[in-house]
Amino acid sequence: MTEIKYCEGCGVALQTEDSKKAGYIPTSTLNKEHLICQRCFRIKHYNEVQPIQIDEDEFLQILHNISNTKSLVIQIVDLFDIDGTFIQGLPRFIGHNPFIMVANKIDLFPKSTNRDKVKIWLKQYAREHGLSPEEIFLISAEHNLGIFEVVDFIQSYRKDQDVFVVGATNVGKSSFINRVIHELQDETQVELTTSRFPGTTLNEIRLPLEDGHYLIDTPGVVNRDRLSEWVSPHTLKVISPKKTVKPKVYQLNGQQTLFWGGLARIDQNGDSTNTFVCYISNELPIHRTKRSQAEEIYQKHLGELLSPPTKEEIGALPNLMKHSFKVSGKEKMDIVISGLGWISVGGESTNVDVFVPKGIGVHIRKALI
Ligand code: GDP
Repeated sequence: MTEIKYCEGCGVALQTEDSKKAGYIPTSTLNKEHLICQRCFRIKHYNEVQPIQIDEDEFLQILHNISNTKSLVIQIVDLFDIDGTFIQGLPRFIGHNPFIMVANKIDLFPKSTNRDKVKIWLKQYAREHGLSPEEIFLISAEHNLGIFEVVDFIQSYRKDQDVFVVGATNVGKSSFINRVIHELQDETQVELTTSRFPGTTLNEIRLPLEDGHYLIDTPGVVNRDRLSEWVSPHTLKVISPKKTVKPKVYQLNGQQTLFWGGLARIDQNGDSTNTFVCYISNELPIHRTKRSQAEEIYQKHLGELLSPPTKEEIGALPNLMKHSFKVSGKEKMDIVISGLGWISVGGESTNVDVFVPKGIGVHIRKALI
């Protein structure tokens, strides 16, 4: 495209190169009289919001703008990867605006999960990150659980204000907004069409509310600490849980190792025998081996017995790097691998070594469930 053209829906500059970025339009439709980007096309014709990715600088600029408005801010986090999807530095950007946290994918947690405990945990987590949420909701956008309560809260709380929705990629922000749109339409009969959107240069999508204010969907920021951002689409399918996760329990002594496919290796490194519970996709195979043989098994069987990754993607993944943790034994702790899952360690104090591709976030936290 030589001459820059703009979307009639959201005002973003159109481009034909990258379907994941804002302003994408297929080359075949460029000659049409009224040009709208693929994202606006889908909202207009299917009432469906598509995810858009942007880089961190652009994202920070959008966040920065929020502090200059009077609005309600909703952050969506993925319950299965809270640290990997929590937007660091958010308090700086939202200013004095009220904030609510919507934690998505509760359907993945075992039925026995104590939801009040999870909410308390999240509240504490938000506080430690400088935020005090007006409310915390546990929802499943995919299964339409808890959406009504969020919409109800938004409608009664926002009081003549815009509503910003922020979140990292893949947290389910689009699924959430699509649900909200349907709820709002049932409630207010407002039809959401792109022709009502004023121009914007910041890649936001503004969905008009009945009182002249907007629900503003901001693009998702990519967090490269998450393993899910590194793997092939095939592997992503395997490691992303789709159904309620079945916790897998292992009693490990100090000479034992668990492999999660070939993507993570967990060594129990103490003298005691401890309970290790894996919370990962049911499709990701776990292998228990002797610690003394772990290295050899990894070298020999990566991409075969230890898969995913597939043989083809091994070269694209960074080498494994070791992270060492001390579990005090006072309370149950989770060791979280960003974009993959977590292992909860109970019992006496012990040392645990976790090996994951270099650059992937690994950290320890008080047990979530
Ligand atoms: P976005 O990138 O944040 O806009 O996320 P999407 O709405 O595109 O969803 C990202 C992935 O998460 C997709 O594979 C969805 O199927 C999945 N997803 C979204 N909501 C839920 C949910 O409530 N539960 C589960 N298990 N998966 C979800």
